[in-house]
Amino acid sequence: MGETAEDFVLVINSGSSSIKYQLLDPESSVVAASGIVERIGEDDSVIQHRADGESTERREPIADHTAGLRLVFEMFAATGHDLRREGVRAVGHRVVHGGEVFYRPTLIDDDVAAAISDLSALAPLHNPANLAGIESARALLPDAPQVAVFDTAFFHGLPAAAKTYAIDAKVAAAHGIRKYGFHGTSHEYVSGRVAELLGRDPGELNQIVFHLGNGASASAIRGGRPVDTSMGLTPLEGLVMGTRPGDLDPGIVAHLARSAHLDIEQIDTLLNRDSGIKGLSGVNDFRELRRLIETGDEAARLAYDVYVHRLRRYLGAYLIELGGVDAITFTAGVGENSPQVRADALAGLARFGIEVDPAANTAENRAARRISPPDAPVAVLVVPTNEELAIARAARRVVDRLD
Ligand code: ADP
Repeated sequence: MGETAEDFVLVINSGSSSIKYQLLDPESSVVAASGIVERIGEDDSVIQHRADGESTERREPIADHTAGLRLVFEMFAATGHDLRREGVRAVGHRVVHGGEVFYRPTLIDDDVAAAISDLSALAPLHNPANLAGIESARALLPDAPQVAVFDTAFFHGLPAAAKTYAIDAKVAAAHGIRKYGFHGTSHEYVSGRVAELLGRDPGELNQIVFHLGNGASASAIRGGRPVDTSMGLTPLEGLVMGTRPGDLDPGIVAHLARSAHLDIEQIDTLLNRDSGIKGLSGVNDFRELRRLIETGDEAARLAYDVYVHRLRRYLGAYLIELGGVDAITFTAGVGENSPQVRADALAGLARFGIEVDPAANTAENRAARRISPPDAPVAVLVVPTNEELAIARAARRVVDRLD
């Protein structure tokens, strides 16, 4: 394909027991290889590696992230990219929480790694896992520049009124309590693509973006800058998600502690893993939810209705915050693949200029596209997100400045 490994950026999204990776050229967007390591630390770990249109799988116990990444590099070498010998332009790491400290892509050294570790108090489920990927990649590719790209960065400049929680200001200041927002890489990428697709200057657009995956978030963006977003100090706030409830009466936490005698770890698990669509219906995947609804399952129907109700509540709030909207966009697994969710979220809003064209909405099409009638005042779009490409480009910009 002409490129050598030095043109490529390796993007790593490291979770507590998984590593997702992609090797891509940030300029041409060409993906040379991608894959996922799953169930790290268990006996039945598995790596799925895709290169040049072919998938290979390897199953064997993988003790930790470094062992996993070492095997990934073996699979790269077997498919023509010996990254440890040839090097890469950069390694871009997704890091969930940048706190107040990090709000642009940052070259990782020991101090930066330590600061990411310090932020684990704000993101105990995510930052330690991200750091495990960073440390493994630094050990195995010591000559490659490593760049952290933060999920919170895009929302760093949220207006004070939007990011401030109305609790004791001294307590909030002492513990870093404010709205940070997440999925920022996706919201930034998608809103930029919307401006391109509409042929408009991002500076003149008011946008609402719904990132609806397993995690889900909404953002209100004025002139290319976010003015509000639904996730908060942690990714728990906001929309109903696969396994998280989104907005809750905070009194529920104290009530659970007193009445159900749950400790704080149990409550955290309940809210992060056993709530949302799964808590209400027993399944967290939207395809399974649809199947249950079709069999007449009432709990599944209610879960869906709660999900859509919350989407519309945020839509209404952001319409008013922005004082009108030019584009509403759906992205990520559910947003890109569920015409039903898109139609129900925007039903009956023609008086606000918001309409979905049923044929465009249900057409089999994976490309970025407009699904509102051409003459509707508000453009409704589906735009596939590409966080890997956005991370690769950000990492590339950082290393270009080093030259
Ligand atoms: P993540 O937040 O893990 O990155 P994704 O953006 O990949 O998640 O979204 C995953 C979710 O997307 C799945 O749990 C599933 O609910 C939903 N999804 C994927 N494909 C479809 C589909 N064809 N129809 C409806 N929902 C889908």
